[in-house]
Amino acid sequence: MRKFAIGNWKMNGNIASLKMLGEVQAAQAFSGVSVVICPPYPLLHAATLASNGSGVEIGAQSCHHLANGAHTGDVSSDLLADVGARYVIVGHSERRADHHESNSAVCAQFQSAKTAGLTPILCIGETRAERAAGRTIEVISAQLKASLPPQAQAFILAYEPIWAIGTGLIPSLDEIAQVHAFLAHQLAEICGSDSKISVLYGGSVKASNAAQIFALPHVDGALVGGASFAAKDFCPIITALGHAQ
Ligand code: PEP
Repeated sequence: MRKFAIGNWKMNGNIASLKMLGEVQAAQAFSGVSVVICPPYPLLHAATLASNGSGVEIGAQSCHHLANGAHTGDVSSDLLADVGARYVIVGHSERRADHHESNSAVCAQFQSAKTAGLTPILCIGETRAERAAGRTIEVISAQLKASLPPQAQAFILAYEPIWAIGTGLIPSLDEIAQVHAFLAHQLAEICGSDSKISVLYGGSVKASNAAQIFALPHVDGALVGGASFAAKDFCPIITALGHAQ
């Protein structure tokens, strides 16, 4: 399975932050894994120019489900592709919460991304209360089925427990392994056993815990928030993923 280290800068960074791409490119070349950086919209074009010719690719953090029109403040998948983005995150829990994005809205975004030739990075994950109630598998299974369009292929899935995002908390290694084994099985059922969908873990991944997480079966990399803003934090995660292959 292809291994990915994907950095989600959220609403952080500026033009000067793009300097980190040089160090990330060096770490990527050395590790041989696939690296994607997802900066805020206004940085996308500069980021694609800065990464051109390197093994680091650029993604966006969201997209509108329509190709154009009267939608002030929104950005279409077609425009993301036009400025050189190759990936787009859909269904991040912060978008689901802050912008009330439902599974069906996420599904429509996924479809628009595919139509524009982008690779969707679909995020799913349970709340702390859902985990405490023993409903994790039920919740993520329902989210996955409702967020994926029919015949979905060639995408990336990120399992991100909402309570682990930005908190410094992570599930136990056994818990992560259990969810990833379930998702591998579920994806084989939905998309076919030869579909080769990479499944990433996301939620407080850092240099200090990355190697243990990447050693787990069915974990094909990480979606990283806070530890992707600076090269000193992100490069060791890329290196750890390279060693896990
Ligand atoms: C994220 O935003 O997708 C994420 C995983 O954030 P963090 O790594 O900061 O927990």
